[in-house]
Amino acid sequence: MDTRNVIIIGSGPAGYTAALYASRANLKPLVLGGFLKGGQSGGQLMTTTDVENYPGFPQGIEGPTLMVNMRQQAARFGAEILDKDVDKVDFSARPFKVFTDEAEYAARAVIIATGAAAKRMNNEAETRFWNKGISACATCDGALPIFRNKPIAVIGGGDTAMEEALYLTRFGSQVVLIHRREEFRASQVMLDRARKNPKILFKVPYVIEDTQGDKTLEQIKIKNVKTGAGESLPASGLFLAIGHEPNTGIFKGAIDLDEVGYVKTDGHTRTNIPGVFAAGDCVDHVYRQAVTAAGLGCMAAIQAERWLSEHE
Ligand code: FAD
Ligand code: NAP
Repeated sequence: MDTRNVIIIGSGPAGYTAALYASRANLKPLVLGGFLKGGQSGGQLMTTTDVENYPGFPQGIEGPTLMVNMRQQAARFGAEILDKDVDKVDFSARPFKVFTDEAEYAARAVIIATGAAAKRMNNEAETRFWNKGISACATCDGALPIFRNKPIAVIGGGDTAMEEALYLTRFGSQVVLIHRREEFRASQVMLDRARKNPKILFKVPYVIEDTQGDKTLEQIKIKNVKTGAGESLPASGLFLAIGHEPNTGIFKGAIDLDEVGYVKTDGHTRTNIPGVFAAGDCVDHVYRQAVTAAGLGCMAAIQAERWLSEHE
C-alpha cells in the first residue's frame, strides 16, 4: 500500500480548499470526499441556491456551481478526488490509516473536513411524514408538487430558516415561520428580508405540538410557549431548519472532540494528534460560513505541509 502525503476527508469548501493548497504544494493529496450514505459530495452548499456572501462573485453564485468550480480548481493542480465515505480511521500510529468500505489508505498527514449536517427532530411525526411533507432541505424538495400553492411551515430562527422560508414562498400559498423564542439567531439582513415578504407569517414564540394527515402531512398543531394557547394550521409541508451537528462520529476515540462532537483544535487547525489537522464546520460552531471553512482549509493545508517538511 502506498503511503500518501496527505489524505483530506470531506469535499466541502474546507476540504476542496485544503486540496487546492496541498496540490499546489505538490503533495498530491487524496480527497475522500464522502457521499454520506446516499447524500452527495460537495458539502452543504450543494443543497442551496444563491450564495451571495462568498467574495469574488458580485452577483452571487449558485451553491452547486461554486462547489463544482472548487472541485475543478483542486483537480487542476493534481488533487485526486474520490466520492467515498470514510468508515473508520486509525490514528494510533504513523502512517495513519483511513478506511472506506472497499479500501484501506495510509497517510503521513490527515486533514479532517467533514463538516456538519442538518439536525433532525427524531420524533414519531418526522418518521411518519418524512418525504411525505416533512423535509430538511427546501432547495431539494420545495418544488415538489405536494407543496405547490399549499401552506408550508418552517421551524427555526437562524439564517437557514429565513433562507428556506424565503425560497419556499416561490412554491407555497403561504409560509409560516415557527420559532420557539422571540429572539433570532438569523443575521439582521436575512431576518429583515423574511419579515418584508408578504407571504411569510411569523409565529413566535411557538412550538409544534402535533402533526396530522392521512397519507401526507395536512395539518400542524402549534402552541404559544408564553401563553400556552394552541392553534391548528393547515400545512402540506414542514421544513426543519433547526441547525446542524458535526459529522465527526467516526473520529470518536481517535481524536479529542468537545461535548457536542466538534473537533478540538489549538485555535489554528492542529488536533491533539500531531499530523492530524481539522478545518471547517466540523471544528467551527461559531461562524459556520463557506468563506471561513475555506479559510480554515487553507490553514490546515499550510500547517500540514509545514508539519510534513519538519517530520519526514
Ligand atoms: P460541508 O460543506 O458540510 O462539507 C463536508 C464534507 O464532508 C461533505 O462533502 C461530506 O460529504 C463530507 N463528509 C462527511 N462525513 C464524511 C465521511 N465519513 N467520509 C468522507 N467524507 C465525509 N454559508 C455561507 O457562507 N453563505 C451561504 O449563503 C450559505 N448558505 C447555506 C445554505 C444552507 C442551506 C446551508 C445548510 C448552509 C449554508 N451556509 C452558507 C453554510 C456553509 O454551507 C458551510 O459553512 C460550509 O459548507 C462548511 O464547509 P465545510 O467544508 O466545513 O463542510
Ligand atoms: P442556527 O443558527 O444554529 O439556528 C438554528 C435555529 O433552530 C435556532 O433558532 C434554534 O433555536 C432552532 N432550533 C434548534 N433546535 C430546535 C428544536 N429542537 N426545535 C425547535 N427549534 C430548534 O443554524 P442555521 O440557521 O442552520 O445556521 C447555521 C450557520 O450557517 C450559521 O452560521 C448561519 O449564519 C449559516 N448560514 C448562512 C446563510 C447565509 O448567510 N445566507 C444561510 C444559511 C446558513 P434557538 O435560537 O432557540 O436555539
